Amino acid sequence: MSPSDLIPESGSRLLIDGKLTPGGDGVFTTSNPATGEPLGHAADADAADMDAAIAAARTAFDTTDWSRDAKARAAGLRQLRDALQDNIEALREITIAEAGAPRMLTSGPQLEGPVADLAYFADLAETYAWETDLGIASPMGIKSSRTLRREPIGVVGAITPWNFPHQINFAKLGPALAAGNTVVLKPAPDTPWCAAAVGRIIAEHTDIPAGVVNIVTSDDHGLGAQLVADPRVDMISFTGSTATGKSVMTTAAASLKKVFLELGGKSAFIVLDDADIAAAASYAAFGVCVHAGQGCAISTRLLVPRAHHDQAVEAAARTLANIKPDNPAKPGTVCGPVISERQLARIERYLDLARTEGGTIVTGGKRADGPGWFIEPTLITGLPNSSRVAQEEIFGPVLTVIPFDGDADAVRIANDSPYGLSGSVWGRDPERLRTVVNGVRTGTLSVNGGIWYSADAPFGGYKQSGIGREMGVLGFEEYTETKLIATGC
Ligand code: NAD
Repeated sequence: MSPSDLIPESGSRLLIDGKLTPGGDGVFTTSNPATGEPLGHAADADAADMDAAIAAARTAFDTTDWSRDAKARAAGLRQLRDALQDNIEALREITIAEAGAPRMLTSGPQLEGPVADLAYFADLAETYAWETDLGIASPMGIKSSRTLRREPIGVVGAITPWNFPHQINFAKLGPALAAGNTVVLKPAPDTPWCAAAVGRIIAEHTDIPAGVVNIVTSDDHGLGAQLVADPRVDMISFTGSTATGKSVMTTAAASLKKVFLELGGKSAFIVLDDADIAAAASYAAFGVCVHAGQGCAISTRLLVPRAHHDQAVEAAARTLANIKPDNPAKPGTVCGPVISERQLARIERYLDLARTEGGTIVTGGKRADGPGWFIEPTLITGLPNSSRVAQEEIFGPVLTVIPFDGDADAVRIANDSPYGLSGSVWGRDPERLRTVVNGVRTGTLSVNGGIWYSADAPFGGYKQSGIGREMGVLGFEEYTETKLIATGC
């Protein structure tokens, strides 16, 4: 299949109750961030479409065997994985064009990785110990045989951002479906095609029953709020900014549904003084260029020993200056465009702020010439950790260097953030590394370049980076309820 088979020229479709339908509000335009030009049309759902999607998910959960038939769910997920793989080249071109994802990342976390990971959740549906025998006890003198059972929660509303659309959509669909839930997925307005293409594949190439997966694209964020507020929805699984996450939690409180939140980050890359300073600083600089820095878990604060500050700055600046933002369709591109003109302007405001707060832009700092939404990889020095550029999420290829005095000071600065998503530590002495790892309060941590990202590894944040964990058995269990059954004996 080609991209145009998945996305018709008249526009992508919604998936509601097993049918591919146009949006009640017509269509909206999706754009190519590498050119700044329109790409085509996406179905623009209205409130009635969202209502129908929620009703379909509710009915599928309440009236079909989906929640009870783990074998069928595993088969459905494997069938979906195979169908996605059959269409992988078309999906790749859509992802590059719409998300501005560098082609090389589509072989990994932007597409092929998350598609393959669906098999992990299919396996879990079959192998997970749904019931645990807690044995016999006699509370209050009454002999009771206790069984702990996990059950699906019900209807899951999944709300996702644009930066890694497939990774995040599948990190929700995989475990939610494997656990026996039905889903209404509302993707970001910037990447409707990535989700709609998956909706078409589900409808046309899998036996997943009607209503089990519903995909509702819209350029109106209000449809996300509608999904959160609806009492027929049992759980919201949200990935996006911390500000929106707070709003989701507030809205969800009215119906007291479970909220699972994956939010923003401002992670620290700590280089201890026994590390290869230049190599570590260069690695950190490369990291902020990947997908133009649009990753929640990218380390954007480079913490270096004060005595080695200038050496680290020189190495990081050299690496950043060598990485030119380029067309994401080219095989060698690391740093593509940012998603929108709005996002580009937001990054520029932060760079202006860095200048007015007295910081130095060592390299980068400007829009790239030519069409599209590209910005040069940028290094900022001379600002304390309390400055706004060091505290707030910029979501662009921007690295801020902050000096520290001793390992304990590095940990203090790393933790002096409202976020607690991820981070890196580089050094040689295992004892010192262990002390730093113990002190940093984040949900994931990389030591000397280790990779924590994988289907079986739970990912998520401390503090204002979120509530709950995605992926792994822990991530699967987020989508379950717990029932304790005590039988008198
Ligand atoms: P965003 O918060 O603006 O939007 C995310 C989603 O929420 C979109 O689908 C949007 O339509 C929807 N939405 C907006 N307002 C809503 C409301 N009031 N109620 C319900 N839904 C609403 O985020 P974004 O700009 O699309 O994505 C970037 C952000 O996502 C960054 O902050 C980044 O750190 C975060 N992110 C976090 C993770 C993680 O796993 N922790 C992963 C990727 C991105």
